[in-house]
Amino acid sequence: MASTGKQTTDEPETAVETARRQLERAAAHLDVDPGVIARLKHPDQVHRVSVPLKRDDGDTEIFTGYRAQHDSVRGPFKGGMRYHPGVTEEECIGLSMWMTWKCAVMDLPFGGAKGGIVVNPKELSNEEKERLTRRFAEELRDFIGPMRDIPAPDMGTDAQAMAWFMDAYSMQEGETQPGVVTGKPPVIGGSYGREESPGRSVAIIAREACEYYDYPLEDTTVAIQGFGSVGANAALSLHEWGANVVAVSDVNGAIYDEDGLDIDRIPTHEEKPEAVTTFDGHEPIPNEELLELDVDVLIPAAIGNVLTEANARDVQADIIVEGANGPTTTTADEIFEKRDIHVIPDILANAGGVTVSYFEWLQDINRRQWSLERVNEELESEMLNAWDSVRAEVEERGVTWRDAAYIVGLSRIADAHNARGLWP
Ligand code: NAD
Repeated sequence: MASTGKQTTDEPETAVETARRQLERAAAHLDVDPGVIARLKHPDQVHRVSVPLKRDDGDTEIFTGYRAQHDSVRGPFKGGMRYHPGVTEEECIGLSMWMTWKCAVMDLPFGGAKGGIVVNPKELSNEEKERLTRRFAEELRDFIGPMRDIPAPDMGTDAQAMAWFMDAYSMQEGETQPGVVTGKPPVIGGSYGREESPGRSVAIIAREACEYYDYPLEDTTVAIQGFGSVGANAALSLHEWGANVVAVSDVNGAIYDEDGLDIDRIPTHEEKPEAVTTFDGHEPIPNEELLELDVDVLIPAAIGNVLTEANARDVQADIIVEGANGPTTTTADEIFEKRDIHVIPDILANAGGVTVSYFEWLQDINRRQWSLERVNEELESEMLNAWDSVRAEVEERGVTWRDAAYIVGLSRIADAHNARGLWP
């Protein structure tokens, strides 16, 4: 769990527990039919499939795959597909619920899904990964599709896996169906700007939070944990917009310079994996120290459960923008609320990924590619709309940013359920 190395007393909740607790907290602020809340506590469907794989040595091995589909009242299911030894049915259900809230906060016409295969992708050859992905696509074929459920990359899967998945699905359907998955390479219907989008949205929301709390960007110091896709892209945008990014880290440690780091020169995870601490002229500091630096904005963008009861009282940032999914435990959240530290939640801040996935799906359906400029402009506008909706709830109800985001999401989902009704 936490990378802080400190002993924590608050156990991280499971994804389902977190999703249900947030649902109840948001429901307490709204006049929602209890029947709708009861429905939202459970996924619509969970598919469990066996995926046989012929290994390179000729042996056949059976892997287990899941696809949890939570709620489709606002549109097709949407969510990632991970290859990881720790994938479980329970985790897929919880993460599918998070996706429902995330899509609703962004006002996207999707409901939440999540899936994956219980497998360590590092133990597969490229050819084995391809065969496994194609067979998984076939096993799920009846339950997915551009109008039903649209998977995307997640831990252990990438654009190439999406290309194989899309190809297998299309071959069986007898027609090219790029809209069955997002996160594909642009040459087969992927969107420009999709890879950078979660980090970019984190930067947009951090910028808006700074403006809201009166921190001029050029005088603002930022520390970012994790220099992967989310962390590095958030760092690059904030640096470009004039913020002073003073600390970044990867799994090996952090680097800190109170005068600001030359972010453009630090190799990203893609360019040279885990090389932050080798960047010249900076003495590495431990990752846990980064979280407690005296900065204006802290962006945890690596893994979950890093802000805990053990370190929440030592955090010195005034604003926390969640880049990773679930970096703050419930107890830490309560401590931050008491300490008047504003926590802008993951379901808003890193939702640029699913938003550009939505753009990709629109491009696929219309068979028309958008330029990177258009993607970034539309992302900016969607993020600002979502920010405004959440800000309005913060101001009207005096709740935290997290509760406000869930209130926005739940009220949209509940309204849609009321309008459609329960059949029969
Ligand atoms: P990534 O693998 O590209 O990068 C992760 C980074 O975190 C790397 O720099 C790695 O060295 C660092 N890291 C790993 N373990 C660490 C530890 N114990 N302490 C400090 N640093 C550590 O991953 P990513 O795609 O950037 O995802 C980061 C987080 O953002 C995850 O929680 C992910 O679920 C979430 N997220 C990702 C996306 C996306 O599309 N990439 C979208 C939304 C949310």
